[in-house]
Amino acid sequence: MTNIVLFGPPGAGKGTQAERLKTNFKLNHISTGDLFRSNIKNQTELGNKAKAYIDKGELVPDEVTIGMLKEAVKENQHGNGFIFDGFPRTVAQAKALDEFLLTLKTEVHGMIALDVNDEVLVQRLLERGKTSGRADDANEEIIRNRVSVYYKETSILKDYYQEKNKYYSVDGVGSIDEIANRLAEIVEKL
Ligand code: AMP
Repeated sequence: MTNIVLFGPPGAGKGTQAERLKTNFKLNHISTGDLFRSNIKNQTELGNKAKAYIDKGELVPDEVTIGMLKEAVKENQHGNGFIFDGFPRTVAQAKALDEFLLTLKTEVHGMIALDVNDEVLVQRLLERGKTSGRADDANEEIIRNRVSVYYKETSILKDYYQEKNKYYSVDGVGSIDEIANRLAEIVEKL
């Protein structure tokens, strides 16, 4: 089994690259952002709880997010492993993921970060907002808040995985194919 945490700020291209990895390595792609959006669309209790945070570009509380992630993993036990996209975003989430995977007799094999400069991110997200229909992509202030939340609360996870010798990074600027090849080279060695 190979379990990967795909890491990087909003707009780094995690969703696009996760789809490539999913096909190439037959992994399950679990995106907490997608799960929240689908819950919001279906007006579930979880979706209603999460919406206010997401609309402001803030993180949804850990207990809500961790519970949702565990359910998604339990429901998708086929394939060669998991790509976690947008999760973990806090140290508490990373620890919860380690403990949970241990109960399944597995682990995170590597975190791979997509490196992209901030101004490129903001421009990509504004561009995506024209067609994605995502409220949190449409407004520059919310986009900048999401990027700043990433640096304040999430980027610390680099240290968490680095200490375990599980941190890798690739240049996230280039064509989709080029970046997919950079990621595949790492995943093949995990
Ligand atoms: P994303 O699609 O990954 O950019 O996520 C969109 C939004 O969903 C984020 O800005 C957060 O509000 C929320 N979200 C997604 N994943 C998490 C997570 N792991 N922890 C807390 N909030 C999250």
